[in-house]
Amino acid sequence: MTGIDDLPVRDELRGKSPYGAPQLDVPVRLNTNENPYPLPEPLVERIAERVREAARDLNRYPDRDAVRLRTELAAYLTKSGGHPLGTENVWAANGSNEVIQQLLQTFGGPGRTAIGFEPSYSMHALIARGTGTGWISGPRREDFTIDLAAAERAIAEHKPDVVFVTTPNNPTGNAVPAETVLALYEAAQAAKPSMVIVDEAYIEFSHGASLLPLLDGRPHLVISRTMSKAFGAAGLRLGYLAAHPAVVDAVQLVRLPYHLSAVTQATALAALEHTDTLLGYVEQLKAERDRLVAELRAIGYEVTESDANFVQFGRFADAHAAWRKILDRGVLVRDNGVPGWLRVSAGTPAENDAFLDAVRELKKEL
Ligand code: PMP
Repeated sequence: MTGIDDLPVRDELRGKSPYGAPQLDVPVRLNTNENPYPLPEPLVERIAERVREAARDLNRYPDRDAVRLRTELAAYLTKSGGHPLGTENVWAANGSNEVIQQLLQTFGGPGRTAIGFEPSYSMHALIARGTGTGWISGPRREDFTIDLAAAERAIAEHKPDVVFVTTPNNPTGNAVPAETVLALYEAAQAAKPSMVIVDEAYIEFSHGASLLPLLDGRPHLVISRTMSKAFGAAGLRLGYLAAHPAVVDAVQLVRLPYHLSAVTQATALAALEHTDTLLGYVEQLKAERDRLVAELRAIGYEVTESDANFVQFGRFADAHAAWRKILDRGVLVRDNGVPGWLRVSAGTPAENDAFLDAVRELKKEL
């Protein structure tokens, strides 16, 4: 039988597996940092209305530059980030994964490199591979904070074209202080100068503020965002970035024409009309996240400080065996391959109770 390796695939793809958290049908799924609350009914109605309108024009290509959507996203960022941004500062694509892919197609590529401080969001390295960008695994401390001096040394040594900073970081949950990001930006400018991509997929759940105000006067800084987490719209596939207008112009050199369908644009616009309702759940999820941290500690687990909608907990002699035992109790969490640690997304109070019961039982076996 013909398999992948019998095909003339690129050398760097040989023997590799596609990214993917298991999509298992179990009662409690807390493994992909989704928002557990379905969209409210009035929003579902509004989406149907806007999609119906869009459907009448589906014989035509959509707005290639997604101007209305980018204008509304800029308004949301301006209101929530306390920093004025316009349509020209914002770009949107099918999930922030596509935003990151477009950024690496633009600023990375063959003969170029990107660095991330690991463990971090594993798609950064995978998208680097997919775009032919060399990947450098930068260091983190034992407690998963970024060791600034070591990070600056790595940037000076490797002179990467792209530097990734994820804050709050996935899978560890901790935020990166603004001073650290600023220092990394300075180091990256001194070494190359390179682009610094701050992945703020979880920023709405953070105790701290967004780094959007840092964009002022820093044309090599990009902040990437998503509607998959705080907006509770992972199925919509809508990610976006904020940056200097020149960055927005640059990514258009690689975007496919009409990449964002009219249905996606209409749905995202409807969701943005309901921003306040959607973000209403964020406070609830933050409270549940804090409860998970407190209860996990009370049970006797170690927990990494979390600014996200998930919590990293451990330590386990065999994290994968622990993952399996939690799954046997009907709760799916995530094994990100960080030795000794697992990650759980904050769900509804009932889902979190089921998770806490499972890990309370597990603790007795350890
Ligand atoms: N960045 C980080 C840090 C993430 O954890 C995720 C999703 N797990 C993404 C980006 C991508 O999200 P999406 O493509 O759904 O916007």
